[in-house]
Amino acid sequence: MHVIYGGTFDPIHHGHLRLALEVSEALEVSRVHLVPSHIPPHRGSTGASSAQRLEMIRQAIAGEPALALDEQEVHRGGASYTADTLRQLRAELGPDCPLVMVVGTDAFSSFDRWREWQEIPGLAHIVVVRRPGSELPVGSEAAQLVAERCVGSASELHSRPAGLVLELAPPLLDISATGIRRRIAAGRSPRYLTPDDVCQSIRAWGLYGARPVESQ
Ligand code: ATP
Repeated sequence: MHVIYGGTFDPIHHGHLRLALEVSEALEVSRVHLVPSHIPPHRGSTGASSAQRLEMIRQAIAGEPALALDEQEVHRGGASYTADTLRQLRAELGPDCPLVMVVGTDAFSSFDRWREWQEIPGLAHIVVVRRPGSELPVGSEAAQLVAERCVGSASELHSRPAGLVLELAPPLLDISATGIRRRIAAGRSPRYLTPDDVCQSIRAWGLYGARPVESQ
């Protein structure tokens, strides 16, 4: 079974890392693949570049065999569409390998605005992670998809290549990349919210309004 977990990861933080580990254990897979989206140049000016986000992820997962980095969206360039990513993986994995996409309820609630969203259940299973304060809107396409395709246990995902939905509610850390960026812009420390190596890169590169190391 191949499991992907996408996001902007601007920057990656302990909330992402804990979730990825929780998912690997809940699904009993040896690895979860983090898939950072590419930020097209016209949107990228305030956060980290794609190359910097990749490097921060590499630093964050170094030495953790359960987490891997999938660079395909950044290498493809342009806007990143999950349907394209899943199609590419399906082509690589073949028709029979279970493929799983992990997504939080905050991101999944706008599922019916994703490009080619109707194709996605045919390409992969969806693991929806319940985030406190982000319920799926009643009657939304996302909620309907969960109601129609929901299974009760992770083991069922291993029995088919795609098309099922599993809800998970693991303990989550209350950390967001937005909160980290705001904190840094206000001159405060991101320490313990994200790994130390990531904090050091943020400072060295002067990201999110951090004062670069040279000027301190
Ligand atoms: P931002 O604040 O910039 O929106 P974020 O911290 O929410 O960023 P994203 O890269 O946008 O992170 O999110 C990628 C995925 O990670 C989404 O599916 C989101 O639900 C999930 N996620 C983000 N933060 C957490 C967290 N603290 N715990 C669990 N999942 C999280």
